[in-house]
Amino acid sequence: MKQVRASLGTLAVLGMELMLMDAPPTTAYLQIYTEQRCRANCLFCSQASDSEGELKHIARGQYMPADLEEVVRRLEIAFENGYLHRACIQTAMYPGMWKDTMYLIRRIRDTCNIPVSLSVFPLDDPKYHTLAGMGVDQLVIPLDASTPELFHRIKGKEAGSPFTWDSHMDGLTRAAAVFPHVGTHIIVGMGETDKEVVELVGRLHGMGINTALFAYTRLPGTRAVDVADAAPDIGHYRRVQIASYLVRHDLVRLDDMEFEGGDLTHFGLDGHELESIIEMGEAFMTTGCTNCNRPYATETHNPVYNYPVAPCGSEIDTIKRQIKNEIEM
Ligand code: SF4
Repeated sequence: MKQVRASLGTLAVLGMELMLMDAPPTTAYLQIYTEQRCRANCLFCSQASDSEGELKHIARGQYMPADLEEVVRRLEIAFENGYLHRACIQTAMYPGMWKDTMYLIRRIRDTCNIPVSLSVFPLDDPKYHTLAGMGVDQLVIPLDASTPELFHRIKGKEAGSPFTWDSHMDGLTRAAAVFPHVGTHIIVGMGETDKEVVELVGRLHGMGINTALFAYTRLPGTRAVDVADAAPDIGHYRRVQIASYLVRHDLVRLDDMEFEGGDLTHFGLDGHELESIIEMGEAFMTTGCTNCNRPYATETHNPVYNYPVAPCGSEIDTIKRQIKNEIEM
């Protein structure tokens, strides 16, 4: 029996797991199955080669082994009935990774037309064309870090990992020439400043590359990424969310924002405009591929960093309090 990993929430939507959910996933979160550790060695990752963490963990998500054919059969039903709108395939670096990735995509493609995202490290152009030809519409290469220095330390040479900032940026640039949509992941809360995240989001936006924000989550068995090594400061996360939203929607130019010591002090909008953006709530929702809501992937219910559904009422009041403590509105 060929296996695939699927998040508990995904298995629950597919009717293969019993779980109460206040915000079910709208994307099927899958990972190619292996019992090997990844050959890369990112400090924050439970599957890393030097990690002592469990292979089932991707951030707070528990990706359980399941029967691949049964998952794909039910995925078609869930897609046709509007429960799931995308399939997200996470990978890892090990011999056989490409064969396993090809097999899973082909089985999904043979069964239904659900849009497919693939989250992977940089690949060569012929592989990109093969993936695009198989209908992968969103290719994601996680940078995870907001600066080359941080990248080097948490998932580059200093971490005992084969990745470099330049090869990842090159991988993203080449992918942007092949796929309709290209994205990356940025983990917030590893010691970077507001300015460093927002500048990177702005640069990538200028290249047509989408950014998904994740809140740093320390997992059992992983190595510390930062002295603080705690959950991200909520003020920092909210400022980065708003600024990224304004940049991604071309509502404000980076040059119109103000920073002091790396902290964002003015969004380049007057108070009323900013207040109405905040009240809309969209800026605080999960970002990434279309229909990716990653419910509680990097948070519990307090605080919620990425809202899987649009925040409203008292949640907006909470958000305002989180921001007001930090910035002149
Ligand atoms: S943004 Fe979401 S759907 Fe896209 S690759 Fe990342 S986790 Fe998957």
